[in-house]
Amino acid sequence: MQPRPLRTTIIGSYVFPSWLEYCSGNLGAFGSAEIEEMQQDAVVTALHDQLAAGLDVITDGEQTRFDFNLSFYGYIDGIELESKSPRLHGPPAHDQRGKHRIVGELAAPRGLGAVEEFERLKHLADDLLRDVPKDKRPTLKASVPGPYTLSGRLLPNAQYADRYAITEALLPIVRAELEKLVLVAGCTEVTVDEPSMSCYAHKEDPKRFVDIFNRTVEPIVGRTRLSTHLCFGNFKGHAVGPRRYAPMFPAFLDMNVDEVHVEMASREFAELEIIRTIAERRDVAVGIVDVKSYYVETFEDIADRVRRCMEHAPPERLSFAPDCGLSQTARWAASRKLANMCAGVKVVRDELGLE
Ligand SMILES: [Zn+2]
Repeated sequence: MQPRPLRTTIIGSYVFPSWLEYCSGNLGAFGSAEIEEMQQDAVVTALHDQLAAGLDVITDGEQTRFDFNLSFYGYIDGIELESKSPRLHGPPAHDQRGKHRIVGELAAPRGLGAVEEFERLKHLADDLLRDVPKDKRPTLKASVPGPYTLSGRLLPNAQYADRYAITEALLPIVRAELEKLVLVAGCTEVTVDEPSMSCYAHKEDPKRFVDIFNRTVEPIVGRTRLSTHLCFGNFKGHAVGPRRYAPMFPAFLDMNVDEVHVEMASREFAELEIIRTIAERRDVAVGIVDVKSYYVETFEDIADRVRRCMEHAPPERLSFAPDCGLSQTARWAASRKLANMCAGVKVVRDELGLE
């Protein structure tokens, strides 16, 4: 059950402020101390917008993954970075991200960086929230991509014959990171993102995905609040899979998580009844803010959408979030959308007399 009925939450990423976008393309102009400062300032910026909106759950906005060396692939040994995008011109989309070659044994002796990110988030949030009693503070959530999604940008070779072989090599790496994040760093809420599973469930075996997912999260099940985010892709604001949940269910109900997030706003709430099925076994986080549209939902729109969801699932099972991370939405829109989402949920909470 939700820690708070009709909880407000967020998917991991948040848009980079424009200065960070510029600086990350000119990192050679900065020293290592300045880059660390840049990382901290970026997280503070993301925290500012989330705290101003009044979310129950906040993240570091994945603000520090602005450079290859600071992203997950930069932590994995045995990879040769793609040298050039396969498509340089035309409409921005996912096909402009190439694949990295595997040139050795896949290993991550320094981990994947998520633990350091969470420690930084804890430290900065403590500082910003020092006047707020601990039990009134928002929950700090970490997001980590799963091995199947990570494998999607690596090319199979003689040693790793196909995407599933690469996934199996990455699985213990992600599992170890999750273990450290929860059991050592004390992270109480984690999302394991496997968007590739939701994008490709229509053509792969969804039960095989569930088995991969459950083996990945096995050491942290019951030790943290665990969720997953089932979206259809949002790189440069574009989807990549057929945007239907039917191929995933009922198989995905066996994913060993507390909460399942589904993308509803951009799909005009098609298949909303799926949240009834999910809520029979899990909590459900409903995407009620369209991160791809520059129509800014009003708080009245949000309140209507919350009421509509309550026709299918009880408040103790429900939380609300944007459809996906807000990394591909301009900041002025992202911050207004978040603020209106929280205000709209509050309207319904007040109607129901919820605290
Ligand atoms: Zn997503």
